[in-house]
Amino acid sequence: MTTKPFQARFSEALRLAVVVRLARELNADLTPKEVLQRVLNATAEVLSTPHASIVALREKRLLATYALGAGPDVDAQPIMEHVLAEGLAGFVLHNYRTVIVNDIATNPLWMPLPDEPLSPQEGSALCVPLIHAGDVVGVMTLAHPARSYFSADAVHLINTISEMGAAALASTMSLEEARRANIRYSNLFDDVIVPIILTDLSGTIQAINRSACDFLGYTRAELVGQSISTVHRKGTTEPLGGHRYDHLIRGQEVRFRSLVWTKAGEKLPVRVYARRVRNEQSGDYIQWIEHDLSSELALEQLRQDLSAMVYHDMRGPLGNIHTSVLALQNLLAEHPNPRVADFLDVAVRSEQQVRRMVDALLDVQRLEEGSRLLSRTTTAIEELVDSALQQVQPAADEKNIQLRLALADDLPLLYLDANMVERVIINLLDNAIKYTPDYGVVTVSTASSGTEVFVRIKDTGPGIPQEALAHIFDKFARVEHPNMPHGVGLGLTFCKLAVEAHGGRIWVRSEPENGSVFTFALPINAPATKELPSVGMAAW
Ligand code: ADP
Repeated sequence: MTTKPFQARFSEALRLAVVVRLARELNADLTPKEVLQRVLNATAEVLSTPHASIVALREKRLLATYALGAGPDVDAQPIMEHVLAEGLAGFVLHNYRTVIVNDIATNPLWMPLPDEPLSPQEGSALCVPLIHAGDVVGVMTLAHPARSYFSADAVHLINTISEMGAAALASTMSLEEARRANIRYSNLFDDVIVPIILTDLSGTIQAINRSACDFLGYTRAELVGQSISTVHRKGTTEPLGGHRYDHLIRGQEVRFRSLVWTKAGEKLPVRVYARRVRNEQSGDYIQWIEHDLSSELALEQLRQDLSAMVYHDMRGPLGNIHTSVLALQNLLAEHPNPRVADFLDVAVRSEQQVRRMVDALLDVQRLEEGSRLLSRTTTAIEELVDSALQQVQPAADEKNIQLRLALADDLPLLYLDANMVERVIINLLDNAIKYTPDYGVVTVSTASSGTEVFVRIKDTGPGIPQEALAHIFDKFARVEHPNMPHGVGLGLTFCKLAVEAHGGRIWVRSEPENGSVFTFALPINAPATKELPSVGMAAW
């Protein structure tokens, strides 16, 4: 075994100390440029080379450079670009291996650049790739004025340093990238004009953009760390209540209307779009986009108020027309010209039609606004059916339509707005008579399931096409029946809203050419409104 002389062992220990110091210095807080500086300085120190340069690369493109001894006035960037394109560093970059050049003067890869001290004209060189996870993240070049200066020992040492440097460079570069992405996202987040709040999965606010601060009147510091229920308070729409949380956690977008409380205590209507955003680094969060509905709703309210005013104001003149035409009918009952009676009949029917339309518009509007049923009384449904039948009898007689009645025995009394439910029955009967051809049959029946009372109106008309069934209760929905009168499409909307205001439900079954069966069910003991499907497929 050969023993190295003391001098050799001493310099080996010094080299080791430099490597250890470098290992300690390379930490994640450095910038890529600082990593390059430390790696190059340490390498130049242990190998005693006066010329050295290093580059950091992302996807083979130059990211940062550092050259030993290059003063501030030397712009290393274009020189390095050139070397990477055509010189020794470029060769190493593309071949993924360390290269020793024992005589740079005769090697064509060594580029005779005029920029001393970056590029000496004589001596030897060592060029090493910094490889991390199979990618070249940097190239380091060392040069010495002596030929054949770099030994196998030097290559061994420089490989150790380059591995350390490559790992540090890769992590600091990805950290830089993440930081930059973060800054890009924060700028975007802040500049978006829609108010956005970010919470963790338990609803604690983590971030809030400028627009949300302006909208809610809070500063960032006041809201971060608070619960989302600071702005979406309980009692209105619980933001994480019910099934919403499950949907959000499963990654589905949840939309709902709610109110937000501003710092000044004002309640503002919003449409919320909430969704879970996956984030591996800092944990998943929920993004709440708060779309301000104030102006939309104010406009809608104005529109509704205006139309309510118009409908309401039409009632007075219509009433005058009604009484005047009736008076004329009386006065002119004995008129010798039979066309006078005909004209008056047309006037009466037209006035009734317009009045029904105006009433329907007002009813629908009132019910849509959620007006409470103020005039509930305990009522027998049979009485309402009876009264409705009496009112539609003349229309049925005109078409020779037979009205049949099948009442169940012992139906319980119901607590309801009698006038409204009677008008539901009249509407359904009117339609049945209107759409049933002459000499048809319209049957009204009642039944009870113990929890609900059912009223069913069956006709022998043309029926309703399958594709129209789902929309038949929508506002202004109409189905064209050849040779049949036109309506406005509000009658069934009124029926649905009126029945639902009683906590009930309404549906239709129909087969083309086989008539239609409209059924509504009213709860026996449940006056409170509940949400139920509009078109049910109950067996009855
Ligand atoms: P309107 O009768 O004023 O048009 P409705 O809301 O009462 O409005 O009815 C909506 C549509 O449903 C009607 O246009 C008609 O096509 C269809 N409809 C309602 N009742 C019946 C029925 N008994 N038979 C066939 N079609 C009907």
